[in-house]
Amino acid sequence: MEERTLITLYLEMIVNMESVREFRDRKVFLTSKIEGGNANNFKKYPGDIYSFMPQRDSGENYSSQAYYFKFQIENLLNDLTHITVTAIAEYDDTWKGWQYSIHPTLWIFSPNNQKFPERIHSDRVRTTPQSMSINLILQPFEKIIITNMLTPPYSQLLEEIELLASHYPTLLKLTQIGQSPMGNPLYSIKVNPNATHTNQVKILVGGSPQSNEFGDLAVIFILQEFLNKGTDYWDEFNSRFTLECILFQNSDGMVLGTNMVNSKGENTFFSYFADFHLMPEENKVVWEHIQKEPPDIYLEMHSFFQDNKTLRPYIYPMELLPEKDRQKTYQKIAKSLINLCNGMKESIHKNQPYFQDTLCYRLMERYHTLSFQFKLHSGMSISESKKTAWEVFHNIVRLIKAI
Ligand SMILES: [Zn+2]
Repeated sequence: MEERTLITLYLEMIVNMESVREFRDRKVFLTSKIEGGNANNFKKYPGDIYSFMPQRDSGENYSSQAYYFKFQIENLLNDLTHITVTAIAEYDDTWKGWQYSIHPTLWIFSPNNQKFPERIHSDRVRTTPQSMSINLILQPFEKIIITNMLTPPYSQLLEEIELLASHYPTLLKLTQIGQSPMGNPLYSIKVNPNATHTNQVKILVGGSPQSNEFGDLAVIFILQEFLNKGTDYWDEFNSRFTLECILFQNSDGMVLGTNMVNSKGENTFFSYFADFHLMPEENKVVWEHIQKEPPDIYLEMHSFFQDNKTLRPYIYPMELLPEKDRQKTYQKIAKSLINLCNGMKESIHKNQPYFQDTLCYRLMERYHTLSFQFKLHSGMSISESKKTAWEVFHNIVRLIKAI
């Protein structure tokens, strides 16, 4: 019953807000009816000031990321246009407005993917606990997407992996492993798919199911860096390891602009239940796929956007690993990832509510997979994110080799 109520509420919310997801006057056109769009209630005030409200995530109880947003703004004039767009956060005891992001990093995306995402200079953003004003200068007829999370659209990331797979037809194998309730596919990319897997360490890298974190992008960064290394590196790697990436664990959330929930209002990140039948559709797809060849290592990439958070690994309880050797390896990798983050870490304990139902926990419990989550930060530049994502992956590979 409770689930049905949540779904109904969620759908009502989407329908009710449909009418205010666009605003047009003679100067600008604002819309969140774009892939992953998240902004409602656009309004105009005197003096070229516009406002909107971020659409709250129905999984926000578990996350302080309720106030991410993404919308498109178009200059309708053949002139430079100065405007201010103000995000207004509902303020209450649970979410407390923007308090975790008073100094946010905002990103500008180009709608047709012609330009790289750029950070908006912090001078252009003014924040209070309840509002965030963004001052913009738009070129004649310019169209941009503004967001406080570094999250390219699902379709764009899909294009990127299809392109990689076509550039490396023998090294990479792209497979659709299933689909979401809305029919958005989930994918696997296997590196060196024809290798015999005896005595090789199987590494699986996945993006967070929290779709407004840039986990999937970070997975693509790791894959791109891997491909940039060239044949000598690949040969050596392939003699010891296999590598597989899984992408778009919450593909509906990516398309709809939700973070913790899928199109049915289910919280996919915390729903790897002991009872398979209770899992959301997407989790069943991922779990059934992984079960065919359980990995030795699982690395899941996440990101923060809050001011009070920095890079860090999430370390799962070692009691889940019965063998001393695996415990030792886990400890070594954990230590190196913590060092990479100047000592920052989050430790998950045994049977910890919510976290015991993550993919990391279940893999470690069931298959003794050495599982880690790693959080990047959306305030980093693209090149910093790429470098750090690679370092995390490389550290794991290096330490497995050394043991
Ligand atoms: Zn996360």
